[in-house]
Amino acid sequence: MAALRSQHLYRGLRILSSAQGPVVEVDGRRLVNLSSNDYLGLTHHPRLRKAAVAAVEDFGVGSGAVRTIAGTLSMHEALEAELAEFKGVDAVLTFQSGFTANTGLIPTITGEADLIVSDALNHASIIDGARLSKATRRVYPHADVAALQEVLDDASANGRPGTGEPYRLILVATDGVFSMDGDIAPLPTIVEAAESVGAALLVDDAHGSGVLGRDGRGTVDHFGLHRRVDIQVGTLSKAVGSLGGYVAGPTALREILTQRARPFLFSTSHPPAVVAACREALRVMQEEPGLQARLWANTERFKAELARLGFDTGRSATPITPVLMGDPETAMRFSDRLTGAGVFAQPVVFPTVAMDKARVRTIVTAAHTDDHLDSALEAFAEVGRELGLTGS
Ligand SMILES: *Cc1c(COP(=O)(O)O)cnc(C)c1O
Repeated sequence: MAALRSQHLYRGLRILSSAQGPVVEVDGRRLVNLSSNDYLGLTHHPRLRKAAVAAVEDFGVGSGAVRTIAGTLSMHEALEAELAEFKGVDAVLTFQSGFTANTGLIPTITGEADLIVSDALNHASIIDGARLSKATRRVYPHADVAALQEVLDDASANGRPGTGEPYRLILVATDGVFSMDGDIAPLPTIVEAAESVGAALLVDDAHGSGVLGRDGRGTVDHFGLHRRVDIQVGTLSKAVGSLGGYVAGPTALREILTQRARPFLFSTSHPPAVVAACREALRVMQEEPGLQARLWANTERFKAELARLGFDTGRSATPITPVLMGDPETAMRFSDRLTGAGVFAQPVVFPTVAMDKARVRTIVTAAHTDDHLDSALEAFAEVGRELGLTGS
């Protein structure tokens, strides 16, 4: 603990005393919130609240068992069917979180005879899922499709290390939108690379759902790659506004996961309120397209203004906009000073990002008004000047 503190890597929990939203109350002060994944403002949407309350009245507060024993309600199956239709796939299986979707999925479908090829900046849950597998693992530099192709060519020409036997399955895994940089994976070329050696492709679209594609169908829809991405992982905890994760793909995949995925088999299913809120969220996303439009209008304005102020916002192309600072101490101090100026924007430091890539990460949502964004930008300008990050 002392070492973490002296390296400016110790992170205390920030405690909110209000509901999640575009403005939150922290330590008795109201701050413009630029740190939530609540892209469409659905955490507090009236229709989701109403659906959740009705589910509590009718079905109680807990599901009482794991899915495979007595914890599958008809509403769990209905949510999965609705998600499958929304995503344009044959079948969906939900998990308690996006994290457990990956840690359940990856070791179930890969083993000793297989290879997992993973982007260097993939989410921790993909990394942990791969670590739980007995498969061989290779990592390619972030978004570098030429390097990915080299790994794939080498794997298909030379087979498994030691024995030279061909791999049974090669699984390429990438985030759709990268959570710390906000850049979009170059999926069209990744698909071609995977297809060139007959590899399967897994896209974890936690930050793409609700944000990209028609009505927020995600990165695969954004690029028109339906049926060319074998497996999609999604979360219900970000734009969908509640909690959970899912795996979307062929029916046989759903089936094997119901038999072998350990978080599915050994951890209790979602309570009714969560399931009902997620189902209502899917309807809202399709019936209120203005939310996604507002999200993007806010995103474009905020990004352009940060760049105009002279901040380094990296390669972001989505509502996630990092403001890069380099060392953890500066990021921590910047965030503290923003708090003083009325803005809640959390620093992201090692081990979430590399030691020299500390940043304050911002996310705008559909729920931010022009006034919220104006006052946030004013605070960034002031603190940037004070800490010498913007020159002017
Ligand atoms: C947030 C995130 C997850 C985890 O989702 P939860 O539902 O919060 O567990 C998984 N993958 C990626 C890429 C994420 O950004």
